[in-house]
Amino acid sequence: MRHKIFDGNEFSIITIANVWAHNVPYLLLKCAEFHNHLCPGLISGYLIVEYLVKNFPPKRNEYYIVFAVPPWCKDDCIQVLLDSTVGKRMMYAKMLSREQVEHLPKIYRDIAGIYVIWNRTAERGIAIILGFNWTKVRKIAKIKNFIFKKYRWLAKLKEDLVLIKYLDRPGLFAYVIKKFSINHKMLDKLAEARVNPLVVLGVAKLTSTQFSTTRTIVYLTATGIIIAGVTAILISKRLRKKTTQ
Ligand SMILES: [Zn+2]
Repeated sequence: MRHKIFDGNEFSIITIANVWAHNVPYLLLKCAEFHNHLCPGLISGYLIVEYLVKNFPPKRNEYYIVFAVPPWCKDDCIQVLLDSTVGKRMMYAKMLSREQVEHLPKIYRDIAGIYVIWNRTAERGIAIILGFNWTKVRKIAKIKNFIFKKYRWLAKLKEDLVLIKYLDRPGLFAYVIKKFSINHKMLDKLAEARVNPLVVLGVAKLTSTQFSTTRTIVYLTATGIIIAGVTAILISKRLRKKTTQ
C-alpha cells in the first residue's frame, strides 16, 4: 500500500480479491465493478437494497425512486441493483452540510437516504427514511481506534469481511426511521435543486444559512413589489392629472 506498486489501485485490488475469495453474490461483484473498489460503504448499499426488497417489495406499477441523502458509496450499489439510475431520474443525490446534520433530530443522525416506492397509476407513493447502524458494524468488526486512524484501508477491509457474513440479514443494520405518504407535487419538490428534502418532509428545519438566503429572497421580492406598486400609483396619478387638464 505504502509504495503504491499498482499505481494507486492497491485498495481496489486488495478489497475485490479478498471479498471475491469468499464466494459473495455475483451482483455484489457487479457493484464493485461499477464502483471500482469494494468498501463497507458499498456493502451497506447491498444491505439496504436487500432490506427494501424484503420489507417493501414494489407491487405492479410500482418502482423505487431514491434520494441519496447524504450520498456515499452505497448509492453506486443501489443504482446497479435497483436500476434506479441518475440518468433515468430515479436517483437524486443531495449532500447535507455539517450544519444541516447537526440540526437534525438525533434519530436521523444515521440517515441512509429516502426511498420512495412510487405507484405510477395512482400517482402516489410512500417515502421511507432509512437508517444504517455503523456503530453496530464497528462493534461487530472489533476495530481498534488506532487501526482505524492509522490503517484506514485495513479497517475497511476488515469491515468488508465482517459485513459479507450478514448479506442475508440486512435488518441487523438497516432500519426504518420514518414513513410518509407523498403525492406528485411533493415528489417534484423533493427532487428540486437547492431543496433539502428533509425540510420538505418536515423532519428538519431550515439552517441559518438557508434561512437567511430565503429571507433575503423574500425581502428583495417584497421590496420589488412595493417599488412597482408605488411607481404604478404615481404613473396613474400623473395620467389622471393630464386627462383632467
Ligand atoms: Zn467506496
